[in-house]
Amino acid sequence: MKLQKALTRYFTLLVLPSALVLGVFLRFAPPQHNPFVPLDLNHKPGLASHFKMTQLERHPAACFNALDATGVLYTPLEDSPRGEACGKYDALTLDRSLTPYSATLSMTCWQTASLYMWERHVARPAATDIFGSPIARIETYGSFSCRNIAGTGRKSEHATANAVDISGFRLEDGRLINVKTHWDNGGKEGEFLKRVHKGACRIFSVTLGPDYNAAHADHFHFDMGNARTCR
Ligand SMILES: [Zn+2]
Repeated sequence: MKLQKALTRYFTLLVLPSALVLGVFLRFAPPQHNPFVPLDLNHKPGLASHFKMTQLERHPAACFNALDATGVLYTPLEDSPRGEACGKYDALTLDRSLTPYSATLSMTCWQTASLYMWERHVARPAATDIFGSPIARIETYGSFSCRNIAGTGRKSEHATANAVDISGFRLEDGRLINVKTHWDNGGKEGEFLKRVHKGACRIFSVTLGPDYNAAHADHFHFDMGNARTCR
């Protein structure tokens, strides 16, 4: 009897109000905060965006649909044979995004979706806000590369086309912002780089930059692997 009373109390004081609050939140929250609404890459990143992005790995068709809704142009790649040390699965070659990249990028669909989100909602607005000039080209060291994480025996996310390295930004006014040169610069360039690094942390599973280690002194590493790091 005592237990039944306690359970009733627990239900009315805790479970019921929580369910009500959650219901109201899901009904009125913007879609990027609601984990039950399919991901739209045109929406700004929100509370549920990273969760939804990670779900795309298990739902490649939804991922390609989400990319199609952005106007990005890409060529789907055939899956690599299973069991090889390195390979591309549910991957594509990015033919045209909002901003040109300095090298051709071949990445998994969900890594591409994350990169698009970062480019559209973080990097491009940061450049116009801080410099008053759009980005003309994003400098990259590339995506797919069959190798281990530097100094370890563990496979890098690059080995499965699930990562990208960004080294700098060329603006339309001709200015070049370099991770290596400008990361610790107290001026606008440093402010811009800190902002795009911080913004990446909300989108990618792993964001690494010069503060992480010497191997990243000249670029940002973004990946959609299983770890969760912002350094
Ligand atoms: Zn990397």
